[in-house]
This record gives sequence, structure tokens and C-alpha cells, in this order.
Amino acid sequence: MTVAAVIVAAGRGLRAGGGVPKQWRDLAGRPVVAHALAAFAAADRRVLVIHPDDLDRARPVAGDALIVPGGQTRDASVRAALDALAGTGTTRVLIHDAARPLVPAAVIARVLAALDTHPGAAPALAVTDALWQGADGLVRGMADRTGLWRAQTPQGFRYDAILAAHRAHPGGAADDVAVARAAGLDVAIVEGHKDNLKLTFPDDFARAEAIIRGRQMDVRVGNGFDVHAFTAGDHVWLCGVRVPHDRALLGHSDADVGMHALTDAIYGALAAGDIGRHFPPSDPQWKGAASRIFLAHAAALAAERGYRLAHADVTLICERPKVGPHAAAMQAALAAILGVDPGRVSVKATTSERLGFTGREEGIAALATATLVAG
Ligand code: MG
Repeated sequence: MTVAAVIVAAGRGLRAGGGVPKQWRDLAGRPVVAHALAAFAAADRRVLVIHPDDLDRARPVAGDALIVPGGQTRDASVRAALDALAGTGTTRVLIHDAARPLVPAAVIARVLAALDTHPGAAPALAVTDALWQGADGLVRGMADRTGLWRAQTPQGFRYDAILAAHRAHPGGAADDVAVARAAGLDVAIVEGHKDNLKLTFPDDFARAEAIIRGRQMDVRVGNGFDVHAFTAGDHVWLCGVRVPHDRALLGHSDADVGMHALTDAIYGALAAGDIGRHFPPSDPQWKGAASRIFLAHAAALAAERGYRLAHADVTLICERPKVGPHAAAMQAALAAILGVDPGRVSVKATTSERLGFTGREEGIAALATATLVAG
């Protein structure tokens, strides 16, 4: 599966004020477009569709995104982006309005997941307010809100299907769901999010800044602790690295005590229980399992809930084997599983001065701390 994100930023809307098109206005220190691009950092490739007049604005924020000049209408702009993706191996495309800069990762994940079973999927919120018909300042009637949804983006599609739909469409569609439906494609509705607001009026910017401030405050710290006893063997697994030793660690899985402590720290930060809850030791399928499965699950759960790992710190407590020569490899192994820069992962070790069970070399203990940040 190769996912491309198309960020549509070619509009000229000036209703939001500030004298520049709204997608180029500053929001918490950077242009709105930069926030929207960052929300899709996990995509395999990104396309930024702009008005040709905005090229100088786009270059500094585009990063590795492909800049494509848009057309006269929204659907012409999307079509230009889809054409630019031809031959790149893209299988799924997420088409997103730059004016929705705060789309949560969980919404993107829901759209992508729905594409496993549908050719199209898009987020929306059910209409909960009463709907009135009004004229001349008076309520003239009530409208039934049953089955009504407020559409959001990203609207996701299987690439070949939406490209063909756009090529066949006469133009003038309100959005890509309309284009898809005109081509007979089913579009699944997935749950949107209230933070995925569309910046339209000046007040919307103040609301968006408040949401960003709230996200920056949502920092979670979890801790984990684990112990495994030594048994007969010739190596131990520690933080994803096979370390030669005159003993092995006893455990239901590969007994990677450091990775278990770190996995529990992430679950702890999410208030999501521990390894035993997600991978019950009573279930034979986890016997001998590589602990990377547990850590990858915890990392995916964090991403699904809208958190990224800001930092992790693991301390191994043992007299032997010596951890120092392997610490850099452990740091790299954990960072690769977590999908973060190795500079965000610390692995260190200490002895317990020959005191207690670790001092008597009966086993190894590990402590871990994980810091997750929303957004
Ligand atoms: Mg364990």
C-alpha cells in the first residue's frame, strides 16, 4: 500500500481576513498550509497544490512535498495533483483541504482503514443541532436532521478509481466525494473530529490557536518495570539486540526485559493497561514471540490515539552482560521499531552494586519511561 496525500491550497479565499489567502495566514507561528502538510507527514508522498501566484510562499514550507500548480476550479486542481501522481505506484490517495490544518491522526487512520473495504471513505460528523428553515428573520419551519452529516476531509480513495472518476467528470463538483459518487463509487462515512475545523472566518483562527495550545499541554509520561530470571543458554535479547552471554533469560516470549519495560511505559502513558492485557501469556500464539511485536503495537496504539513519542529512556539493571558496547545498537533498534529518530531514545545500564537478585546475577531488571505528546 502506497499512500499519497494531496493538500489542496489553490483557493483565493480572503474571507478569513489578514489580506492573504487563508491557507497562507499565520497560525501559531507558521502558515496554515505547513500545519496541514505536517498532519500528513506519515504519508509515503505528499503533493501540495497551490495557486501559481503562491510559489514563493510554498517553497519554504513544502519540504519533500511535490508542488503542483492548481487549475481554475477545485476539481481542476485535484485533477492536476492526481495526474502528477501517475506512474508513482500510489495505490491510495487522501485529498485534504489545506484550510483544515488540525486534522487529528486518528481521523486519517480511520479513513485509510475504511479503504480496505471501500473504494472511497471520508470523515463526517452527524448533525446534532436542530435545523430550521428561516426567512425574514423568522423561523418558518423545521427540517429533519436524520441522516444528515457535516462533511470533512481528508477524503480518501483508491487511486486508480478516483483518477478515472475525475477524468470522467464534467467539472463543477463540490468535493471529491461528489466526483466519486458520480462515477458510481461507494464512499464510506467514518467518524470525523470537532478539531478538524475548516478555517473560514477570522474567529476560526482564534479557535484553532486555542486547540493547538491545548494539544501542546497534553504531555503524558508513563513508566514500566520488568524482571526476567536467568536460565541456561548462550545469549540474551536486550532492547532488540542479541547479546552473547553464558546464560539466557527465561520468559514466555523472547524475554526482552528492556523492550517489555518500554512497551509497558507507552501503554502506561496511554492509560491502556500493560503487555499482559494486550498479549495474554495464557495465549499460546505469543509463546516465543519477538518482543518487537509488543512494542510496535504500543507505538501504533499511541499513533492511533493521536500521540507521538517525544522521548523514551530505558535503564537495564544487571552485573553482566556488559550493556555499554551494545547501547548504540539497542538505541537504533528501538528507534526503528518506534519510527522515531534515535536521538529520542536512550538506553543505559547500571549495576545494583552486587546487592539483591540482580547483584547475585539471578536475573535482569529494567525500568523505562516514555513521554508522549499529542498532535
Ligand atoms: Mg516481561
